[in-house]
Amino acid sequence: MPNPSLAASQPTRNKAIVEFLQLNKERLSALVADNGTIYAVREKQNRRIERALVDLVSAELGQAQIAYISPIEFANWHQSPRDTDQTGTQPVQDTNQLLRHILEQAIEANASDIYLDIHKDISHLSLRCYGFKRPYNTLSREEGLRLATSIFSMGKSTDFQPGRPCDCAFDFAAGDKNYRVRGNSVKDTRGNSLTCRIRDPNFVLPLDACGYSPTQIQHIERMCKSPGGLIVLSGETNSGKSTTLGSLMMAEPRTKKIIEVADPVEIEFDHCTHIEINKYGEQPEEELRNILGAVVRQNPDVLVLGEIRDHMSAAAATDMAIQGKRVYSTLHTQSCISVFPRLVNLGVPRDILVHPSFIAGCVNQNLVPLTCPRCARLDCDDPYQADHVTSLFGSAPLRFVNPEGCAHCKHGVVGQTLVAEVFPMVLDRTGQSHRFIDNNNFKGLEAHMQQSFGVVTKHHHAAGKVMTGLIDPLLTEAIIGEFMEGDVQHPLSHTKPKTAALRP
Ligand SMILES: [Zn+2]
Repeated sequence: MPNPSLAASQPTRNKAIVEFLQLNKERLSALVADNGTIYAVREKQNRRIERALVDLVSAELGQAQIAYISPIEFANWHQSPRDTDQTGTQPVQDTNQLLRHILEQAIEANASDIYLDIHKDISHLSLRCYGFKRPYNTLSREEGLRLATSIFSMGKSTDFQPGRPCDCAFDFAAGDKNYRVRGNSVKDTRGNSLTCRIRDPNFVLPLDACGYSPTQIQHIERMCKSPGGLIVLSGETNSGKSTTLGSLMMAEPRTKKIIEVADPVEIEFDHCTHIEINKYGEQPEEELRNILGAVVRQNPDVLVLGEIRDHMSAAAATDMAIQGKRVYSTLHTQSCISVFPRLVNLGVPRDILVHPSFIAGCVNQNLVPLTCPRCARLDCDDPYQADHVTSLFGSAPLRFVNPEGCAHCKHGVVGQTLVAEVFPMVLDRTGQSHRFIDNNNFKGLEAHMQQSFGVVTKHHHAAGKVMTGLIDPLLTEAIIGEFMEGDVQHPLSHTKPKTAALRP
């Protein structure tokens, strides 16, 4: 039922209040009527802004009272025309408008994912922004189910069936951009878990803007200029692999035939052929086999394989790379040295794995939140953690994320940067690296890469960014694991204690 007083409300034109709502619109869904009523969507993380708004409305309009409304009511109000000759809002009948409102807000907040968890009597909406999943709103179970149905009615997809895993994909226009949304639903013990990934298919960064060090960029460029072989980009989900893949595809010359096979194709280039695997077909595996067969017959110079995830894709990558073609692909591993056993696990024969022309290089990376320099804390609240970081980083000017945030950031974060390690296998003409791989001596391989080619570990790369205040040491450890004393290179002027504090 539409809220009658909300439906009749005209928002106040008081300048200070309008500016406040505009400044905080990503964190507070609210409108203020001239009689001092604040219609707001109740959210835990809004309380501080809500209190500030009450004070402001009270000072400007002489009185203030809050009336909580549901996100659907806010979306209805937000979407409805409110010309002066209208007496009220027209209630929106379908949930598509709520979905549009949520998608718009998610895009405005730079969210990579929207989560909808439908439970027995409530539904939780959350957004993943800069790597963090944060609560966004709550709906009733019924509203959640209607929203799920709406998500699955937007484009190429199966119908939403709460009892079965299902996928969907659609395009969504916001501002002057067109975003791609991929949704997935799975049943859980209390209801359903839905995830929607949002991507801008035109978002491409040049390699030197991704966050690699100058040496790492040089190594990647040397790998890409080599005549052929497999280049593996490894990392967890949301580690920026697709962005790097896009940067590398963009840099490939127009004089080459480049074919990408992916699910989904995330970025499209004029000079590439993009083939998307239709997983909504009856036999997706058969389709992938046919596509890979056809791609080989097309004889591309460069094959971009979205992910090596099974024996079939590993075999296709191996066949092309061993023929001397350039193959780019991604793999889910946590380090460069894990790439080799993982490929064996996926059926790559050992004699091919250790062949010098097979793997041109590996990259492993994570995305870490960039600390907002305007509101960062300069000290760590927890004395134990404070000791820990001081023992590692000495007197370096550290910055810690302030979860309260400010008007210039989101919860103390202004973006993300890469921390990475790069193994330029192609530079090793002695065959030493391949002997380490053959002997399963991966620590030896790592040491050899560091000593012979100036390779730095991911922790070492991250420590450099911590010590310039770009990233928070504790958040970084939560993503890539603890720093060890050897990861940190101190300028000569810094003295540091001999031992790192142990943590429980
Ligand atoms: Zn800030």
